Amino acid sequence: MSGTTNVLSRGCFAGCCAVTQKGKINSPKNENKRSLNPCTAAYALFNLSKIIFKVNPIALMERFNNKKILISLILVIPFFFGGFIPNETMMPAFRMKKIVLDAGHGGVDPGNIGSKAREKDINLAVTLLVGKYIKENLPDVQVVYTRDDDSFPTLKERPNIANVNKADLFVSIHSNSAPNKSAFGTETFVMGTRYLEANFDIVKRENSVILLEENYKENYEGFDPTSPESYMMFNLMSKAHFENSITLADQIESQFRDRVGRKSRGVKQGPFYVLWTPSMPSVLVELGFLSNTEEEKFLMSQEGKEYMASAIFRSIKAYKDQIEAN
Ligand SMILES: [Zn+2]
Repeated sequence: MSGTTNVLSRGCFAGCCAVTQKGKINSPKNENKRSLNPCTAAYALFNLSKIIFKVNPIALMERFNNKKILISLILVIPFFFGGFIPNETMMPAFRMKKIVLDAGHGGVDPGNIGSKAREKDINLAVTLLVGKYIKENLPDVQVVYTRDDDSFPTLKERPNIANVNKADLFVSIHSNSAPNKSAFGTETFVMGTRYLEANFDIVKRENSVILLEENYKENYEGFDPTSPESYMMFNLMSKAHFENSITLADQIESQFRDRVGRKSRGVKQGPFYVLWTPSMPSVLVELGFLSNTEEEKFLMSQEGKEYMASAIFRSIKAYKDQIEAN
């Protein structure tokens, strides 16, 4: 019996090792180290039991009931190997805890005007619905509004609310307009100056809100929203969070197109003042054109508002799932 024990103690007590042509036991040392075959596992288990119990397990097996030892090993191994989990998995995972929702315009600033609709009303209704869906379905996410009534936070105050609250995401919601009444569709902007010429009209229009503010020249340090030269300074600003902003913007446009059936005009870049200063991923959503009769009608309907708000909510949820999984 002791001879058997000696052979097995050098090799495999489970008897699953192959014997080579030269009669040597093909121990785990001769195996490919990357593959964990039953023999290797048994060998590791064997040595581990020696470390843990500081006794020869074969002798123990003979002395005690074999099953008890095996059960003990099975219970101990997960705790033993748990100590070797890489550090990064021990790090607290990122959780999206706070989002700032910004209903564009408000108060003295109606934004774009359709044949009946005012942009500030559409924006507020959709924004409040997005917040409602988040509160109902993502209870671990706190929602902060830049406005939840017909008030008029300045363009400087809106991103500042997100910064002061240390929000994880900033979403500004607007409705579009164009001299060409046939223009329609959604578009979502991230901070950037690419193709500024093509988007200059909408950028100028949204940023020109500051002209309604008192002392805007002092407050905005000479920034003139109507002058292309003023936007040169935006180039110098950080593009931190740019990729995450794009991820969310892509989600929003996909949801508008695939789930609500809207025409998506795509994800674009624009030097919007509200996207310039937030220190977190930020997007500006244009829900559609109030200058287009059909789109205005859709956005004025309760069903249209709910569809658009649901799409934005689903995008935020998908974005949250995605970044928290990374
Ligand atoms: Zn707007």
